[in-house]
Amino acid sequence: MFETIADGIHVLVSNSFDSNITHLDCGERQVLIDTGTGMYSQQLEMQLSKIGASISKITDVVLTHSHIDHIGGLAVIQKEADPKIYLHECEASRINSGDMRLTLASTFGASLPPIRIEGILHEGDVIDLGEMKLRVFSTPGHSCGSVCLEVLDRNVIITGDTLFAGGSFGRVDFPTGDPTELVNSLKRLAEMDFAIAVPGHMGLIRGGTRQAAVASYEMAKIMFRV
Ligand SMILES: [Zn+2]
Ligand SMILES: [Zn+2]
Repeated sequence: MFETIADGIHVLVSNSFDSNITHLDCGERQVLIDTGTGMYSQQLEMQLSKIGASISKITDVVLTHSHIDHIGGLAVIQKEADPKIYLHECEASRINSGDMRLTLASTFGASLPPIRIEGILHEGDVIDLGEMKLRVFSTPGHSCGSVCLEVLDRNVIITGDTLFAGGSFGRVDFPTGDPTELVNSLKRLAEMDFAIAVPGHMGLIRGGTRQAAVASYEMAKIMFRV
């Protein structure tokens, strides 16, 4: 079930291989951050309907990075809607030139339709979604185009597969992964504080994100000897 974590922000925590999915109700704009694998799209539609939303009404999809468990749902969404898709330039440039290797789709036996990224993200960008704005933090390490997204005026950050709860963090052994960059990205997050973080998998981080980010940063430093 989607849980409302702040005004207009709904999070569907996954209990499968899917990523967590965030829905932003921006009035005229209906936004998803990450889309899951697409294997559970009927369930996604049912859960969206419970909060008065629908796949067919999605106007914008912001991706924290392009792995199949975050991007796969686009196959279904693009059949029913024509959303503007946002992704960091490091991964967008590859996908726009037809190179889908970074998505790991073939590794997991999934197929993706052609995807055109029109919203090419850079460090410091602010995505204007009307009633909400997202600030982009470039946080490479899990993949070169991994980003964290601050929902401005809501005290919420979406951390993708960079920062997880419980001192955990994303793996770095996929293409373009880099342990040193991940440690630096976690250090950045450890210097910020938000009321809630929405990681790409598993549970939310509540009651202040700084402490959780410091724990993950310290753990990553030890693990990667950085
Ligand atoms: Zn993931
Ligand atoms: Zn990932």
